[in-house]
Amino acid sequence: MLIDIHVHTTPRRTLPYPGSDQCFATPWELIEMYDFAGIARGVLLPCTNPENVHTIQSNEEILDVWQRYPDRFIPFCNIDPRQCFNTPDADLGYMLAYYKDLGCRGIGEVCANLPFDDPRVENLFDHVEKNGLPLTFHVATRDHGTYGLIDGLGLPRFEQQIIKHPNLVWLCHSQAWWSHVSGDVTEDTWGGYPSGPVTEGGRVVELMRKYPNVCGDLSAGSGYNAVSRDPEFGYWFLTEFQNQLCFGTDVCAPKNRANVLVNLRNFLNEAVAANNISQQVYDKVTHLNAQRILGL
Ligand SMILES: [Zn+2]
Repeated sequence: MLIDIHVHTTPRRTLPYPGSDQCFATPWELIEMYDFAGIARGVLLPCTNPENVHTIQSNEEILDVWQRYPDRFIPFCNIDPRQCFNTPDADLGYMLAYYKDLGCRGIGEVCANLPFDDPRVENLFDHVEKNGLPLTFHVATRDHGTYGLIDGLGLPRFEQQIIKHPNLVWLCHSQAWWSHVSGDVTEDTWGGYPSGPVTEGGRVVELMRKYPNVCGDLSAGSGYNAVSRDPEFGYWFLTEFQNQLCFGTDVCAPKNRANVLVNLRNFLNEAVAANNISQQVYDKVTHLNAQRILGL
């Protein structure tokens, strides 16, 4: 069984991406893609931060989709750290409690283009930790011209927040996170998809070893690249962190049927068939960890 920890949808056709004919897949298109790929269920992440998309979604929209297809989807909510008057004192907790009560199993994808240690972001983390929800986030390499929580090479700001929030389950995602799987990542490569052998000393390995609440969301080209760029490393990494990794796709449009929908699935299927990873590792990464983290 496959559970997708990270996907996006919109209940109706929307404005396409700038310069494109594509927009998010509709729930029905996504279910058809899931049936094709053998994916049982997916976590719907609302895009509520203005930085990353051309249309802003609501949590209610995602809850409506889940209510129509409760067997195929699992809803997350999303709260922008600037909501409720753009202050670090905002009571974001009552909002989180409300959506948790309605069935949301986590928060994200947090894409606000603010530093990890911005007081408004820390306020969000405080409330998320208190509410006991896992948090999916995207890392940005800079302020402006991108989206995601801003850090520097080596992810020092993120580690400060891990230390400040020992009970928060982090679902780490994006190029700027997964490039750190290798120790030789640089200022030039950390925002992309570095290829070739993984070297010792990667911060992803270090942080996941040090903090068991730091989990990897293997979705998108970035997650797939992290485990497949150096397959021997990938098999070791999946085995070593078998309790902290979750299968995902990050399908953002119907055209993703050819890439993120199937790339990681094929890699994991081939790895278990060739005995490069055990059946137990495969089961944990494909669905058991997601079930545990999301309380399914
Ligand atoms: Zn995403």
